[in-house]
Order: sequence, then structure tokens, then C-alpha cells
Amino acid sequence: MILVGPPGAGKGTQAARLVDTYRIKHISSGDMLRAAVRERTALGQQAEGFMKAGQLVPDDVVIGMVLERIAKPDCAAGFMLDGFPRTRPQAEALDKAMTKAGVSLDAVLLIEVPDPLLEERAIHRRTDPVTGTIYHLKYNPPPADVAGRLQHRADDTVEAVEKRIAKYHSETAPIVPFYMEKGILKKVDGVGEPDVITQRIKAALEA
Ligand code: AMP
Repeated sequence: MILVGPPGAGKGTQAARLVDTYRIKHISSGDMLRAAVRERTALGQQAEGFMKAGQLVPDDVVIGMVLERIAKPDCAAGFMLDGFPRTRPQAEALDKAMTKAGVSLDAVLLIEVPDPLLEERAIHRRTDPVTGTIYHLKYNPPPADVAGRLQHRADDTVEAVEKRIAKYHSETAPIVPFYMEKGILKKVDGVGEPDVITQRIKAALEA
């Protein structure tokens, strides 16, 4: 499965819940890139500047990283891609690799949230580095015992978020018709409580 949606749509939050239900692996290209930056690998050093500026990391860097990851044995029973593909060349590369491997996508979920809400969500987003849990300072506040260790993403600034939203419209939205033509696209309204959205996604997948 693939989760598509603008930055702040709730892809990470929903993916963490859905992979438990469907017993598949959560593969987040953003998490992989942040780990590479933290560990100062060659790939991380290539990606860091683009990420901080709210730009996309070049296709040749990201495609190789994700295709290598989903070929690992722990993805053989299924995977949920979160944040990849994000451009038309990425979608085409994934398609080619999956066809070659003899596997096919079951569903592409598009989580829709209007732009004015996205900025507000990203600015209040905090992540627990120990559990990976994502909080919203106002609507899904963290418990007091973890509040001190929460992290604010370097690219969740007003300036970077605006750039990321613009990039979503110019680079990522064009992958939607690609999957619509394949008949596997499911649209879900991403406005509301996380639990309600999880139910909407499950209903859409099971329909
Ligand atoms: P995310 O955690 O999905 O919001 O990703 C954070 C940042 O990582 C993005 O703003 C990009 O700079 C980079 N990134 C993640 N996934 C991709 C991708 N599929 N293609 C290009 N850049 C990506």
C-alpha cells in the first residue's frame, strides 16, 4: 500500500496504526532520510540541505534507498510506503521494480487536508524520539512524562512548511492520476480526530 498526502496530512500517524492492523512493514522515506542525516552517512549528507530547505531530495538518491529497503525480507509479507513516491519518476521507478519482482500494489490511499490546516499541524507537531509517537501540542498533547524529550522537526518551520506544501502541489499531486488510471486510488478525508480518520481509512480499504 501507499499513503499519499500533503505534509501534515497525518500519513505518519495513520501508517503507525495501520501497519499494526494489517501486519505489514511501515516504510517512511522521511524517517529513513532523517536517520541517515543523524548518522551522518554519505546519503544523509547529500539529503540534509534539501530537507532543511523544504525541498525534495533528488529522485536518484531516494529511489535507490527505498527500492533497496522494500526488497529486504521483512517487507516480503507486505509494506506501507509513507512519503514515497513523491514525484512521477519515483512512481514509475516503483512500478517498474514491483512488476519486475512480480508483486502489485493493493491500494493507494490519498489523505486530503486543506492547505490552511496543514501549516498549523506541522508547526505544533512534536515527535517522541524514543517511541516515534507523533503529537500535536494542542489537539493531541503529550503526557507529562515524555514532554521533556519531544523533538520539533527542523523542517517544521513556517517557511519550510510553505515550501513543502507548494512542492506537494507541483511535484506530488501529479502521481494521483497515475494511480487513478490503475483503479487503485482511494481518497479519504483527513480532517478530524486521528481515530475517526483511521476508521475512514479502514472502511475505504475494506470497501
Ligand atoms: P516527510 O517526513 O515525509 O515529511 O519527509 C521529510 C523530508 O524528507 C521531505 O520534505 C523531503 O525533503 C525529504 N523526502 C522524504 N521523502 C522523499 C521523497 N520520496 N522524495 C524526495 N524527498 C523526500
